Amino acid sequence: MATALITGASQGIGACIAKRLAKDGFDIAVNHYPSDSDREKAVAVAEECRAFGVKAEIFSADVSKFADCETMVKSVKDTFGSIDALVNNAGITKDNLMARMKEEDYDAVIAVNQKSVFNMMKLVCPVMMKQKKGKIVNVSSVAGLYGNPGQVNYSASKAAIIGMTKTIAKEYGRKNITCNAVAPGFIHTPMTDVLSDELKAKMLDAVALRRYGEPEEIASVVSFLVSEDASYVTGQVIEISGGLSM
Ligand code: NAD
Repeated sequence: MATALITGASQGIGACIAKRLAKDGFDIAVNHYPSDSDREKAVAVAEECRAFGVKAEIFSADVSKFADCETMVKSVKDTFGSIDALVNNAGITKDNLMARMKEEDYDAVIAVNQKSVFNMMKLVCPVMMKQKKGKIVNVSSVAGLYGNPGQVNYSASKAAIIGMTKTIAKEYGRKNITCNAVAPGFIHTPMTDVLSDELKAKMLDAVALRRYGEPEEIASVVSFLVSEDASYVTGQVIEISGGLSM
């Protein structure tokens, strides 16, 4: 049985990806941020994954911290025996126009959104190399492709993920490891629920399909990218935005 490790999988897009990959037949390692509320939600996600007849366990780690990631990767390997798919999904926002953005808010977003992807790929790639196969999907954003006012920290982190994805695709292609990114647009999750109605309406004006995306519509593309159907796809960024950029 193949195993998928999904970071930040206690809610939103990550939880949805975990359940979709469980439905596809992967055993699931549900990473959650080390807080009681995240743990509680992760337990529920793992239970929903098990309903598909696969194994699922929760793993606490702040993925911005290398030592946490190291402990988690070892623990996932010991529990399941392999790590066949890695989805780097954990992310935060701390939005403000640059003039008002605090340095610590810049650093925090880079640490969680960008450094975590380095931490996880650095630790999981050797495992995948030994297995002689592996699939990595990094969750970027349209903010990383086009920029977004108020998100100089977030768009920097998400643009970096695209560069890292292409680099790792080139470094590890000969080891039969693929590395791709998805760039979601406006998706209905707790992260976007907090936006004002006015801002939500304004954003939708730019979307060809004139609606928010659902987390399931991200999960289905991730499902493809970690499947054998995507065996010759690597170093790519798939925008899932309802036609934001045309
Ligand atoms: P969300 O806030 O619902 O979920 C983010 C998850 O990451 C949470 O479970 C949170 O606990 C976890 N997390 C945060 N910091 C962590 C850390 N240090 N260690 C471990 N876990 C941590 O947001 P979402 O909308 O589901 O976002 C998921 C991913 O999709 C993020 O990377 C986000 O940037 C990206 N994204 C979202 C949208 C959108 O419209 N919602 C658009 C583009 C990209």
